[in-house]
Amino acid sequence: MQAIVFDIKRYAVHDGPGIRTSVFFKGCPLRCIWCHNPESYKAGVESICRNNRLGDIEVVDESEIGKVYTLDQLISEIENDQLFFDESGGGVTFSGGEPLMQIDFLEAILKACKEREIHTALDTTAYASKDKIDRIADNVDLFLFDLKHMLDAEHQKNTGVSNKLILDNLKYLSEKGTKIIIRFPMIPGYNDSKENINLMLDFLNELANKPEFHILPYHRTGQDKFRRFGIESLMPDIPSLMEEDTVWVQDVFKAEGYKVKVGG
Ligand code: SF4
Repeated sequence: MQAIVFDIKRYAVHDGPGIRTSVFFKGCPLRCIWCHNPESYKAGVESICRNNRLGDIEVVDESEIGKVYTLDQLISEIENDQLFFDESGGGVTFSGGEPLMQIDFLEAILKACKEREIHTALDTTAYASKDKIDRIADNVDLFLFDLKHMLDAEHQKNTGVSNKLILDNLKYLSEKGTKIIIRFPMIPGYNDSKENINLMLDFLNELANKPEFHILPYHRTGQDKFRRFGIESLMPDIPSLMEEDTVWVQDVFKAEGYKVKVGG
């Protein structure tokens, strides 16, 4: 059994509790126009041209994105950091791309982590069948659940897929009593309208269990990746959001009793 991973970040502190090792799976069914990881789009290992600028000179070099790991290889990478997990209350976060696209491997590695008592978080779009969610839910200690837009037409326009399955899975996981943190990528002009914030609040208020609410302010670093990897970007050139720009959204959710955080 093998997985294709495009990055492993150690000592991560924004992807769940404590110090974490974040494993980024390749392949994503969405195409968010504000994406920070466009190199994750395609599922397989691929050669990609990077356009790097050295002063006034543009240098193009070709490199491989994605590396194949067996279960043993990846679990041993994770176990290398066990000491940091134990001391900080951390663990491993599976991210992407969308890890659920590699469901067989994901299911197996989550079980392997559970057997080793390693805390697991899954950073997911939840754009997947209920069957896939059921296969992994009991071995995930924490869902980092991306919520991008409540209006289906807007969701489709800016991510390429409907939000229906995503919202159904959120309800389902909440009913199961799963620990969930909502991650809202706040993108100016796309999903930061009062209407969308209020719809999100109404939806979350109806869940069986109140999740934490984390705001991820838009950062334009992802746009530079589009240029470097030679992928066309549809995102207009707008400035990054500052933490103070998120205060009014924080206040809306805090007033309803949500634990709110800015950043991961
Ligand atoms: S879900 Fe994440 S990785 Fe996939 S396109 Fe959207 S921002 Fe990029």
